[in-house]
Amino acid sequence: MGTLLVEEGTVVTVDDAGQVFDPGYVFIEGDRIEVVEAGAAPAALRSQADTVIDATFMAVMPGMVNAHTHLFQTFIRGLADDKPLLDWLKAAIWPVAEALIEEEAYLAAMVGLVENIRSGATAVIDHQYIHTDPRNDDGVCRAAEETGVRFLLARGWTDVGYYPAFMEPPDHIIEETTRLYDSWHGQADGRIRVEFGPLIPWGCSDDTMRRTYALAQEWGVGTHIHVAETQSEVDANLEKRGNRHIEWLAELDALAPDVQLVHSVWLDDNEIDLIAQHGAVVVHCPVSNMYLASGVAHVPEMREKGIPVALATDGPGSNNNQDMLELLKTTALLHKVNTLDAGRRAAGELPADALLPPYRPVARSPISLRWEVTNSTYSIGMEPCRI
Ligand SMILES: [Zn+2]
Repeated sequence: MGTLLVEEGTVVTVDDAGQVFDPGYVFIEGDRIEVVEAGAAPAALRSQADTVIDATFMAVMPGMVNAHTHLFQTFIRGLADDKPLLDWLKAAIWPVAEALIEEEAYLAAMVGLVENIRSGATAVIDHQYIHTDPRNDDGVCRAAEETGVRFLLARGWTDVGYYPAFMEPPDHIIEETTRLYDSWHGQADGRIRVEFGPLIPWGCSDDTMRRTYALAQEWGVGTHIHVAETQSEVDANLEKRGNRHIEWLAELDALAPDVQLVHSVWLDDNEIDLIAQHGAVVVHCPVSNMYLASGVAHVPEMREKGIPVALATDGPGSNNNQDMLELLKTTALLHKVNTLDAGRRAAGELPADALLPPYRPVARSPISLRWEVTNSTYSIGMEPCRI
């Protein structure tokens, strides 16, 4: 493997002390970061490097994790800008997705992953629930393999109450996810992983949730599900099942550190306590939640209770891009204006880390600058990328 020297940049280490070296340098051998130091690179290192990158006026930082997207939406952006979730699904997402074939899934994933990489994400979780062509997932994984990202395919499924073209019989869900697990999990030198992606509580039967969660535990992989994105979805669950989304998962015994709870906007205090007690991970998609006027997740409260909160763009259809840097800024600003507190932070956090949760390892839970790089790494089930 080759050697790489990145020099003369502003090195943002995102280490526990929050060190920034300006200028600094990073020396990489193969796939390992060997040296991170302040100042100019020694001549001996420069002569060892196969490639030297002059990073003057650039930031050198760990790769970020985009903890939830739908790459198939790459070509479905901007089509239904001013609609709430269900109207947006009906007007833009479902009609186009219904016609998706493998090559289009591949191309959409390829362009979407390049967008992620260009804004600083080196790891992506894709919730892929469009199986109108049975090879769509393979097309997406092929793009992940070729682009070089670390990739977690949350193989989506719905078996009840959803748009008919996307529902599948339970046995078929198990068979197909098993095929994908056998074909792709651990491939590309371990960069690609597969887990279960139950779509939403109102699209998933209790029985299939139990079956897939049991299998996920057997395989040692995670479960990735949208919850409490809109108020009406929570109301519907109360009417149908008599409980709220997180209560439902807890009653199914499917609330644990290996569960990633996307959105988590409409939670009551009891649900936030349940998540904290069970150690589950929340995936926060603020741009999407603003785009669809869904609401504001109570992220500062979650973090004060020690809940790992990962960050994500959500699909391009409800964001219009995959820009992780825009996401960082939007997240900070949204919670400042929502709490009317410009400096709110959890106990023990440094001022510069406001809204960035402390590093806390979570067993088997693959998932985010400090928040991003550390917390979102939980969701992807891999070691954080640290400088
Ligand atoms: Zn989503």
